[in-house]
Amino acid sequence: MSDPLLSLLERYWGYTAFRPMQREAMDAILAGRDSLVVMPTGGGKSLCFQVPALAHDNGLAIVVSPLIALMKDQVDTLVGNGVAAAGFHSGMTSDARQDVASGLVAGRYRLLYVAPERLVGEGSQSFRSLVGRQPVRFIAVDEAHCISQWGHDFRPEYRQLADLRRVWPDVSLHAFTATATARVRRDILSQLDLRNPAELVGSFDRPNLVYRVLIRSNLKRQLQDVLARHRGEAGIVYCQSRREVDALAEWLRESGVRAVPYHAGLADDERHRNQDAFLNEEIDVVVATVAFGMGIDRSDVRFVVHAGAPQSLEHYQQEAGRAGRDGLEAECLLIYSGGDFARWRAMAEESGDGAARRALLRDMERYAGSVGCRHRRLVGYFGERFEKDACGACDYCLGELEAMPNAIEIARKILSAVARVQQRFGVAHVINVLRGRDTEMVSGRGHQHLSVFGLFRDASADELRGYVDQLIARGLLRQTDDAYPVLQLTTEGVQLMKDAGAVSDLELARLKPPPKGTKSADRRTKTEVASWDGVDRELFEMLRSLRLSLARSRGVPPYVIFHDTTLRELARHRPRTIEALRHVYGVGARKADDLGEAVLEVIREHEAGARSS
Ligand code: ADP
Ligand code: ZN
Repeated sequence: MSDPLLSLLERYWGYTAFRPMQREAMDAILAGRDSLVVMPTGGGKSLCFQVPALAHDNGLAIVVSPLIALMKDQVDTLVGNGVAAAGFHSGMTSDARQDVASGLVAGRYRLLYVAPERLVGEGSQSFRSLVGRQPVRFIAVDEAHCISQWGHDFRPEYRQLADLRRVWPDVSLHAFTATATARVRRDILSQLDLRNPAELVGSFDRPNLVYRVLIRSNLKRQLQDVLARHRGEAGIVYCQSRREVDALAEWLRESGVRAVPYHAGLADDERHRNQDAFLNEEIDVVVATVAFGMGIDRSDVRFVVHAGAPQSLEHYQQEAGRAGRDGLEAECLLIYSGGDFARWRAMAEESGDGAARRALLRDMERYAGSVGCRHRRLVGYFGERFEKDACGACDYCLGELEAMPNAIEIARKILSAVARVQQRFGVAHVINVLRGRDTEMVSGRGHQHLSVFGLFRDASADELRGYVDQLIARGLLRQTDDAYPVLQLTTEGVQLMKDAGAVSDLELARLKPPPKGTKSADRRTKTEVASWDGVDRELFEMLRSLRLSLARSRGVPPYVIFHDTTLRELARHRPRTIEALRHVYGVGARKADDLGEAVLEVIREHEAGARSS
């Protein structure tokens, strides 16, 4: 191969092609031109600076990282691939640090991971003198959004990075982040004082993620459905409160799922223990508040459920994006209720920037209640055009939602009901009236005599709630911000009541029942079927156990050994020789030497088992 970057990619990582934007990002680094690279989680940011760090036989690339866990993960992975990399941080023993220090002086490393305060600010001089004996090739600032107060992970230490430019005036700076908002981007550019930077913004679509939205009805049953689709697989369930986290984790454990809770109210050691158990594949499911976040590098997370709507699509994208980082199919399910938004609104009122937060919430609400391709919605929100007609990976495009042919008629009936109860009642009551339920409140107010009473006798409460949400998302109805939110008509809603032609292209959809004979849990996408095509499941599981025991004996998380993608390839092609093994996706030269025999052994064992049975 004549392309040097590509041959490095092949030799150390066992990959044969670049992902979108990686090439451009690496070129900027090699040209010594400052850059800002924005790519979604799982897009492959780290390789953008790791590969060019190997382009020279000497000199050092410095990577600034906000978390010890992140540094450890990346360094472990690099070392496993045979790359001369090291970290220098407070999570190491002083012996280990001493060792790295002498390695630095001897010019042993191509990549060094450190926290910002190590490089700049008080007391950083002595560390810099260790580094300074060899050429610093470039500095990569990972998770660069931490520098901005507008981001969701502001780290005051990152502010000191403004000094980098002064300390190393001739070294190019390269910022990497998954957070795309324009404000954060501007902040990064100015804080780091980037010079004529190449701004590279990758696509935010994650085609391997399947997005679904459900209205919260029976949460446990809804969770059971998802879990049935992902038995024994890794997942995260995000909840809005610590109490709910504890209750659900407990319930899952009782139902036989290997689950643990995670929230800021747990003691430090329990929190760390639970996080490590998840990263080391001792447990499958973490039930968590949003405190569970950055540093979750487990790449085989197959589902992320939100039991409750987050406060913005940025948050949603960030949290749901922890699924499927290995590029394999994964599911992102949002289970929400109108009350979630009311709660967030109440909180927004209390904070100083109420208006901004309300606007973000409105977009989240639109996403939840909308009918249409969810991939399109999401990338559209981040300012990108979606080129495909159908994504094949959301509830809408998979045909799990049924578009109602008489949307206008349905909408007008619901709007009339809201008007008839004088815009003084909440969703639940309006729905009871429409379904012709004789509740105490209905008879107490005499609402059984209204003309709208029982207009939807056959519809379920969920179905109607879905319509109401969609009408809110469409701006025909609104909910007040009171403790007991009341449904009201908007101006547009009033117009539609007066004139059926006032609103064009209104769509309403409901969840389609799964076809007869299939369980509701069995909703597999084409991508998912394809990614398992030809994979011997039994061998896959055997390789998974091998990975686990290798990881245990080496003291690293399993995904540092091999990704699921690689295990599936191995269980598909069943290589018999080291030479054949080298050609498998994700197996670099070092891994083939280091782990090849163990893998071949398992494959042989499996063949023998298959012959004798
Ligand atoms: P990010 O930091 O953007 O979240 P990572 O750098 O962790 O993403 O990459 C996500 C996954 O994709 C990793 O497992 C990585 O090995 C893999 N990956 C990155 N680039 C490529 C590539 N060119 N070909 C195949 N896999 C890749
Ligand atoms: Zn779609």
